[in-house]
Amino acid sequence: MKISKKIKIANSIRILILFVVFSFGFSNTRILKSKMSTTILKFIPTAPVFIPTPINQDKVKAYLKSIFKNTEVKLVQTENIEFVDPGANFETITCDLCGRNINNDVWQHAMDKAYKNHFTDLSFTTPCCDKQTTLNDLKYQWPAGFAKFVIIIYDPIGDIKPNEFTELEKLLGTKIRKVWAHY
Ligand SMILES: [Zn+2]
Repeated sequence: MKISKKIKIANSIRILILFVVFSFGFSNTRILKSKMSTTILKFIPTAPVFIPTPINQDKVKAYLKSIFKNTEVKLVQTENIEFVDPGANFETITCDLCGRNINNDVWQHAMDKAYKNHFTDLSFTTPCCDKQTTLNDLKYQWPAGFAKFVIIIYDPIGDIKPNEFTELEKLLGTKIRKVWAHY
C-alpha cells in the first residue's frame, strides 16, 4: 500500500472517530437538557377566587387521567390567591384595553403592592390608556393568571383538544385559562 493511501485511510478513521465522539456528546447533552427542563400544563379558573366543589374535582381528575395517561395530574388548592406563571415562557405583558406593552417595572410594582394583600385586590390602572383593569385581565405572553385552584399536568404528551377543554370547563363549572409553563 502506498504511503499516501495509508494516510488517507488514517485520516478517514480519525474523522469517523471525531464524528462518533461529537454525536455521542451531542446526544448526551440533549438527554441531560430534557431531564433538566420540565413542561407543565396548568388550568386555572378565570375568576381567581373560584374553587370547584369536591365532587367536581373528583370528576375532573378522573377525566384528565383518562386523557393524559401515565402522566401525573395534580389538583392544587391554596389558601391565598397565587400568581400562576408560565415559568421560562414568560415574555411580555400587554394592556388588555389598548394592546400596548406594559413596562415590566410598572407591572412589578403593582404586583408587589397586590401581593401585600394576598392578591385579593388586583385592580390596576393602565399607564398607557389610563383606564381601570385588573392584573388578571392583562394579556400575558405566554398566558398566566391568578388562582386559588390549579390543575397541574406534568410533562404531558400533546395538548388538550378543544372539545376536551370545553368538557373540562363543564365538569369544573367555570371558564378556565390554559397556562403552559416551562421550567
Ligand atoms: Zn392601555
